Amino acid sequence: MSFRLFDAPLREPSQFVGFAGNRIDRQSENRADDAVEKALADRTTRLMLMHAGRLYLKLDDGKFDPWFDVAESEAFDVSLDRGVLLGFSDAGPVLAVPAGIEPEDLPETVKAIDYRSVYMQGLIDEAAAGALAQGAALLAWHASHAFCSKCGNRSEMRAGGYRRHCPACGTDHFPRTDPVAIMLTATREKCLLGRGRHFAPGMYSALAGFIEPGETIEAAVRRETLEEAGIRLGRVVYHASQPWPFPYSLMIGCFGEPLNEDIQADLNELEDCRWFFRDEVRTMLERTHAGGLITPPKGAIAHHLIRAWVDSE
Ligand SMILES: [Zn+2]
Repeated sequence: MSFRLFDAPLREPSQFVGFAGNRIDRQSENRADDAVEKALADRTTRLMLMHAGRLYLKLDDGKFDPWFDVAESEAFDVSLDRGVLLGFSDAGPVLAVPAGIEPEDLPETVKAIDYRSVYMQGLIDEAAAGALAQGAALLAWHASHAFCSKCGNRSEMRAGGYRRHCPACGTDHFPRTDPVAIMLTATREKCLLGRGRHFAPGMYSALAGFIEPGETIEAAVRRETLEEAGIRLGRVVYHASQPWPFPYSLMIGCFGEPLNEDIQADLNELEDCRWFFRDEVRTMLERTHAGGLITPPKGAIAHHLIRAWVDSE
């Protein structure tokens, strides 16, 4: 018997999802407490500026540029002391920094665009979108964890933004990543798609839900599918993952094998949930569906799960 574990193709499915193109060398083993200070003194340092879920983009000749140098950033009410060091690119250190100017007060040449639109509309390259996912998640965590959860005193940023330290009780707190299972339940002929109440018109997607403490990925996939659709799953296999900075999740995409057919949708969560045959799903992917139904856009991991299944015949 041959050793099968690493026989999978080198082109990992995760490489093709939105926010997956991060090229930053994080150098996580040597993040000193003065790492941000040092980076800000470096003339090669580039900053991403973020404010209330939006990324500032310089608009130059119809192209968007997400990178500012330290001197440029000072016109945007930045909090450099609350910046986080994402790591190092070939060009030098890379930071994400909270900025304070409201979108309507920005100069003509700078736009503040919400993260989702930045990635959906492909306004920046994949490497920058990856940096955005990293920076947005870290800044969101700092913004909501200013106080020690053990003693209630104000904590301080350390290790370039990868830790918060409480000077009162000495506890260290670390950035969190919340795992979410997203799963496509499918047989050879058909797959299960649902419509959330907040979805864009006509959109159907894979079901998803947070993985809970004490739960394996597979158990979460089975539980969520049973709760949301009344479908029991047999085998569950992992396909791909996606950093998802809303605010700091990791989407974990799986396929599940259904054991029953009769759907009992949880109508508190879903507006609709049903089986779709392969040919219909293909038209949804290609935006040629007669009834105007669609699947999520290309950057979304759900798109890649659905595409991989449609192409698997
Ligand atoms: Zn404390």
